[in-house]
Amino acid sequence: MSECVGKKKISLVAGPCSAENRSQMLDTARGLKALGVQVFRAGLWKPRSRWGNFEGVGEKGLPWMAEIRQELGLKVMTEVALPRHVEAVLRSGVDMVWIGARTSANPFMVSELAEALKGTGMTVWIKNPICPDVPLWIGAIERLLNAGIRDVRVIHRGFCVVDSTPYRNAPLWELAEQFRSHFPALACYCDPSHIAGKRELLLPICEKALSLHFDGLFVESHNCPEVALSDSAQQVTPTDLGLLLNRMGVLIE
Ligand code: PEP
Ligand code: MN
Repeated sequence: MSECVGKKKISLVAGPCSAENRSQMLDTARGLKALGVQVFRAGLWKPRSRWGNFEGVGEKGLPWMAEIRQELGLKVMTEVALPRHVEAVLRSGVDMVWIGARTSANPFMVSELAEALKGTGMTVWIKNPICPDVPLWIGAIERLLNAGIRDVRVIHRGFCVVDSTPYRNAPLWELAEQFRSHFPALACYCDPSHIAGKRELLLPICEKALSLHFDGLFVESHNCPEVALSDSAQQVTPTDLGLLLNRMGVLIE
């Protein structure tokens, strides 16, 4: 996050937890673009805890991503958890991918994804593993870097611990700091949405990330969070995201 005259400027990635339908995607993306967001996130393949929950629209959402890219000029990114997701994304012109917290906890799967992504020139973002295990987190990055993936960026999304009250995932900032000191050259963003679990708790987490000089924020935003098919309680409308940035006293870079 860089300082400039007047307000601080932050780098921000935002978009819905899940791509649900074309109008939800376009409407959300338009709202975010009006705020100045340049990178749009949306999950197409959703790893859900319980069987039978909405698992994402899959490849059906790729044309919506392409439309957002072409019509609105936003960069678009989605989560990949299997090599076949990488293949689908490469065919469709998605700009960047991220590896989620459940996948980054699995060394074999990270290696499979690294293999599928190597040589593609794709920017790969990776979240910390769900468990508070810094060597496992470091190992996931090493697997990507050793495959020759040059543009690796990191997302701190908190950890699953026995008591994370009041948050959904405990931020354990000291672990994140240990990790960052191991890879000082890698951009590290904070995902306050998955840490907070509730939109009312986003502000202090964003402020803490700002004070720790994270490189940016990775936030879930939905045009109508109340009816979102996943992570409803933690998503904010683009308008409310704008208000949050105002309260933080920052502008989007
Ligand atoms: C997400 O970003 O929507 C997601 C599934 O996150 P995580 O892997 O951090 O749980
Ligand atoms: Mn989510």
